Amino acid sequence: MVGIEEVLRAASLRVTRPRVAVLSAVTSHPHADTETVIAAVREQYPTVSHQAVYDSLKLLTELGVVRKIQPHGHSARYEARVGDNHHHVVCRNCGMVADVDCSVGDSPCLCASDDHGFLIDEAEVIYWGLCPECQFSSQTP
Ligand SMILES: [Zn+2]
Ligand SMILES: [Zn+2]
Repeated sequence: MVGIEEVLRAASLRVTRPRVAVLSAVTSHPHADTETVIAAVREQYPTVSHQAVYDSLKLLTELGVVRKIQPHGHSARYEARVGDNHHHVVCRNCGMVADVDCSVGDSPCLCASDDHGFLIDEAEVIYWGLCPECQFSSQTP
């Protein structure tokens, strides 16, 4: 496994404490929302400001070190699993997110029925449904 600092250096980023803490929080809490990332960062680094976490998340996302998922109607989630064109299944009820591997094996795993002349290199699919827990609780009166 590649260390957090190497990942930052590979992205030509200065290795700062907030960046290291944010990236390690996203790595250990896949699909965490911003509040969860802040809480996880503060466990290691109690004095970090909200703004420093937001700024680090934004920068890491822009550079492709972190991937942002924004399911409609739910808060944005972050993950450090990038570049493998995996998809997500999202619970309509509680917003739980899980990874779904690319269905074909390489990107873009779906062929567009009309590519409009674009050179398509990525397909991002969100599967919607009810997670096992919400299926169970919707059955109980
Ligand atoms: Zn659910
Ligand atoms: Zn994911």
